[in-house]
Amino acid sequence: MATEGNAANVTGKVSPRLMVVSDLDNTMVDHHDPPNERLQSFNKLWESEFSHDSLLVFSTGRSPVLYEQLRKEKPLLTPGIAITSVGTEIVYGDTLQADKGWEEILDQGWDRNKVVELTKKYPTLKLQADTEQRPHKISFHIEKSEAQKVVPDLTAAFEREKLAAKIIYSGGYDLDILSQAAGKGRALAYLLKKFKSEGRAPKNVLVCGDSGNDIELYEVEGVNGVIVGNAMEELVSWYDSQADKGHVFRATQRCAAGIVEAIKHFKFDSSS
Ligand SMILES: [Mg+2]
Repeated sequence: MATEGNAANVTGKVSPRLMVVSDLDNTMVDHHDPPNERLQSFNKLWESEFSHDSLLVFSTGRSPVLYEQLRKEKPLLTPGIAITSVGTEIVYGDTLQADKGWEEILDQGWDRNKVVELTKKYPTLKLQADTEQRPHKISFHIEKSEAQKVVPDLTAAFEREKLAAKIIYSGGYDLDILSQAAGKGRALAYLLKKFKSEGRAPKNVLVCGDSGNDIELYEVEGVNGVIVGNAMEELVSWYDSQADKGHVFRATQRCAAGIVEAIKHFKFDSSS
């Protein structure tokens, strides 16, 4: 069901006018909107105003397998770049060619087997499906009350063992252990640095999210952000705790309609 987006622009030599970096579940995709009206309203705006000179990036916690599944279920545009598995995998356009430079960075100090060994002490950590276990990501489900005990304990164990690993808890149920250098924010910062070195830094960047694993996106230097109207408590309380909120817009609309709202709020649609 996926439709053509802007895959051509990713290899272009010019700076994108706008780079939208969006989470998928409950941000770009509204699972409570069967006719996909909100997603279609974003797609329509993107194709008419932006796809010719801007760059669309999806950044999802989903593995490549579950990302492809979502593309079959929902009328998602084909992005120039897809960042999957919580910022551990970067692939370009339709070719799905992986960014090898990023893989090398994630390898540094990462010992997957040792991390797996340490997690075995915690029976409350339930491994997610095999498709979600990736070279630089190990994923579990765990209840919130249990996570409050396990997260600090495991973090201390990683430090003690000098393992370059970090924990991201999201959606009140998903616990991901990633290579220390990974994450949605780090992956975006890597891409922005790369574009800058190639002389094609985007003129504006808008990051879009709804949950805890999106927090890093708003912390990347120089970006604007939108927190969609249906955001989870963990993201809203992060926002409330920030002294400097000017670069982040809290949309009232749900999901992709909130992204459209933010594009208008920041006047990105009139800066051509
Ligand atoms: Mg989400």
